[in-house]
Amino acid sequence: MIFENVSPNRRENMRRIKSKNTRPELLLRSALHRAGYRFRIHRVDLPGSPDIVMPGRRAVVFVHGCFWHGHTCHLFRVPKTRTEFWLSKIARNRSRDRQAADRLRSLGWSVVVVWQCELANLEGCLARVVNELPDSH
Ligand SMILES: [Zn+2]
Repeated sequence: MIFENVSPNRRENMRRIKSKNTRPELLLRSALHRAGYRFRIHRVDLPGSPDIVMPGRRAVVFVHGCFWHGHTCHLFRVPKTRTEFWLSKIARNRSRDRQAADRLRSLGWSVVVVWQCELANLEGCLARVVNELPDSH
């Protein structure tokens, strides 16, 4: 693995942030579900394997961890060890995110991005997502 030289706590934290079905993602999924939205998850046949897919609206939602995807917010801190390694990894993630979103849009999908930090205000976040979703056909 790539996690040598990282403390066990931090390693566990990173693993949790990186994996699918993370807490932020589950929070948003259950909020959307409670609000009556139905969706599929982790469609690997779509660019970037979006976390939430609504085929009827031709919309996808990505829930991005603030560390892994380099969000400029209070949850992101530049690691003190292996700084170059992490920064270049995060830069690659960001460039992959952009490419996936571009490809999805060119295929006619609407792309909504939700940041982990936004979920501290779950209702506000849900309202924004719902507002950005196109109507279903
Ligand atoms: Zn953030």
